[in-house]
Amino acid sequence: MTSVEEVLTSNLYVQQTKKLYKIGEILGLHEDQLTALSTPERVIQVKIQIKGKDGLIKTFTGWRSQHNSALGPYKGGVRFHPNVTQDEVIALSMIMTWKNSLLQLPYGGGKAGVRVDPKSLSREELEQLSRNFIDAIYKYIGSDIDVPAPDVNTDSQIMSWFLDEYTKISGKIDPATFTGKPVDLGGLSVREFSTGLGVVHTAKLAADKFLGGLEGRRVIIQGFGNLGSFAAKFFQENGATVIGVSDSKGGVINPNGLDYNKLEEVKKTTGSVVNYPEGKKVTNDELLVTETDILVPAALENVIHKYNAPKIKSKLIVEGANGPLTADADSILKERGIPVVPDILANSGGVVGSYVEWANNRMGEIINEDDAKKLILTRMEKAFEEIYKKYNSLGDQDLRTAAMVVAVERVIRAMRVRGLI
Ligand code: GLU
Repeated sequence: MTSVEEVLTSNLYVQQTKKLYKIGEILGLHEDQLTALSTPERVIQVKIQIKGKDGLIKTFTGWRSQHNSALGPYKGGVRFHPNVTQDEVIALSMIMTWKNSLLQLPYGGGKAGVRVDPKSLSREELEQLSRNFIDAIYKYIGSDIDVPAPDVNTDSQIMSWFLDEYTKISGKIDPATFTGKPVDLGGLSVREFSTGLGVVHTAKLAADKFLGGLEGRRVIIQGFGNLGSFAAKFFQENGATVIGVSDSKGGVINPNGLDYNKLEEVKKTTGSVVNYPEGKKVTNDELLVTETDILVPAALENVIHKYNAPKIKSKLIVEGANGPLTADADSILKERGIPVVPDILANSGGVVGSYVEWANNRMGEIINEDDAKKLILTRMEKAFEEIYKKYNSLGDQDLRTAAMVVAVERVIRAMRVRGLI
């Protein structure tokens, strides 16, 4: 197997299990306890069919993995992507269990994925697909059972179709069943940008500790979806200089800085940031190893691995995506003294925003937008402090290990009193 093939086949579930087993060693967990922690409680696989615009029936597969409910209802997004697999969805749901625990949210972990290229579908086909996915899983979700939200390639419009379909088919009027909805359906406008806001906020907290501040630092962001684009905006607003960005078509670098508004414009008019006029075109691989102060992988998983981790020329990594670093990359970067703010903290602004939306829907709108924003940032600061304390007390360990120890210990306590571990 060539190194490229090995990377392409590296499996997120394997990577996440390795990361968990490392925590098991630190906490002295027995193999049975690790199995109890890693095994998903339920995985639902469904067949989704739509009638294409050409009149032909198109068939897709989707999954919802309900990983752990010790701390509350399952919570996590729904991803539409052509490469989604069952293993990947399970791994992503496990990440949600740790993330929700770390942020002290009253949730367990869940995740869904549909194996589809949404860019190949018309708007009508996308709506059919969204509605039919909910028809297939509606029995297993609900505001106090399992609460889906947006993830890669899904947004507030898709949440609206989900909610409408759920209402029709279940007969329940319960908007808290989904988060990331538009404001008109009980969503919060903060939720739309809360993941990007949180990424920049944790980058700032980490930059204060490790780089002497965020102001004037150079930032490279891989990925220009909801997260990457809002992160670019907030980095710029916080006085950092975004020198490189990319999307699935490639990237652009300019050491003098890229302007956020111009990036948005170029993305909107040409379909890709690669067409930004002033700068050097690069591939995604080149972008990741370009010299910078802060690197934010904000696209997909396993992009930093044992082959490119030794070549990373960044002083700090902030994981915008879920699982962008393999377990090998973690070890290499730790050896090289490059701190990594782990996904379960860095991108948790999304799910904390979801929590505020969910609580608001259940209680009848009592938190306003300003308070919601404050709550998200304060909750993340608290988690950052908890991790940093653990990081210092553990000694020779990285930030992910500290974060996972805090998160896994909390899940273990809840499972233990229930008699599950
Ligand atoms: N998809 C986001 C995540 O990975 C948000 C999940 C949610 O809001 O439930 O954290």
